[in-house]
Amino acid sequence: MQASIQPQYNKVKVQCTTCGNEFETGSTLEGPIRIDVCSECHPFYTGRQRFADKGGRVDRFKKKYNLK
Ligand SMILES: [Zn+2]
Repeated sequence: MQASIQPQYNKVKVQCTTCGNEFETGSTLEGPIRIDVCSECHPFYTGRQRFADKGGRVDRFKKKYNLK
């Protein structure tokens, strides 16, 4: 039986240092992995600024200025 030339994929935990979101992904690396931005806080996905995602600051801002 021949040895596989495919790399070994492990299920590793990834933690986003910006929003704290954690998720699992398949990777050849040893986990856990820390990233600066993820699909939960990346402006491309959320349409929001990164700073605005922490602690509901956007909601408070909207209430303060009565925005919708
Ligand atoms: Zn994130």
